[in-house]
Amino acid sequence: MANIKFNWPIWGHKRIIKSLQNSILNDKLTHAYLFSGPPQIGKMTVARYFLKSIQCQGNMRPCQKCESCLSIERNTHLDTVIIDHENSIKIEDMRELQHKFSLKHQVGYKIALINNAENMTEEAANSILKFLEEPKGKAVIILITEAKQALLPTIISRCQIIKFLPVPIDIIKKELYNLSKDKQKASEISSLSLGRPGLARALLESPEIIKKQQKLVSQLERLYSARLLDRVNFVAKVAKDKALISEILDTWLAYFRDSLLALLRQGDLSMRQSKERFPKPKKYSKKEILRLIKQIYQTKLLLSWNVNPRLALENLVISF
Ligand SMILES: [Zn+2]
Repeated sequence: MANIKFNWPIWGHKRIIKSLQNSILNDKLTHAYLFSGPPQIGKMTVARYFLKSIQCQGNMRPCQKCESCLSIERNTHLDTVIIDHENSIKIEDMRELQHKFSLKHQVGYKIALINNAENMTEEAANSILKFLEEPKGKAVIILITEAKQALLPTIISRCQIIKFLPVPIDIIKKELYNLSKDKQKASEISSLSLGRPGLARALLESPEIIKKQQKLVSQLERLYSARLLDRVNFVAKVAKDKALISEILDTWLAYFRDSLLALLRQGDLSMRQSKERFPKPKKYSKKEILRLIKQIYQTKLLLSWNVNPRLALENLVISF
């Protein structure tokens, strides 16, 4: 496969991309991959380029014009199954996978891509486990999840785990500038993006999301100087909306991370010119901010374990 080259226009994740591309070049694919990381960070994008490049017949992969590339795009590829929905993944979803994987004809690889793998029912998870225990021939399963801890340990232990970390803000800024040719916008949005290219693009396309985030930040600023009772009342108001809570926590994280960066950069003249999106909270020392960041992470973890959201959030705001 000496002539194969790759064209994956992806923001960041260089090391992951390099190792996946090498595994194609050396024909050393693993039977199971687990792509793990926060939402909108690029897991699905990388996975799609990866599987297309395995199936593509062109020299520049993916070529986007061969029969394989086109049929994957239409989700009609004979040896590729993509399960990508928000609902729970049931055994019915697995039927097509089981069928395709059982067919004997074998030229290239059989590949299954399962997004939101944490939503697999027990039955579905067990059918995946069965495949992982006795993989046959040239077959690859790519599981994608934002909540690795919700998967069966027996599944996790049989996968090559690929952990997606936030993309450096400078890379996001550069890519945003390439798209928008607007320096200020690129710098503003990149600092709100939490290192998630998907979120950065969404913010670029829908400025109303920025307004919403700014609202969450001023809410936070009011909250941490508010009386205890007002903080608890705030929790009572939002506790029922899981999506809102996760948005709030992500925004607070970004806020405190930026505050920390601003503190660390003090005294460094070369850094002082870079503008921070959020004002620096005066009330907290570096140590305090670190504690809050840790606590927000802990709250997020508790929520992913289905702890009562009201309790988890109350615990956090009381510690402000
Ligand atoms: Zn192709």
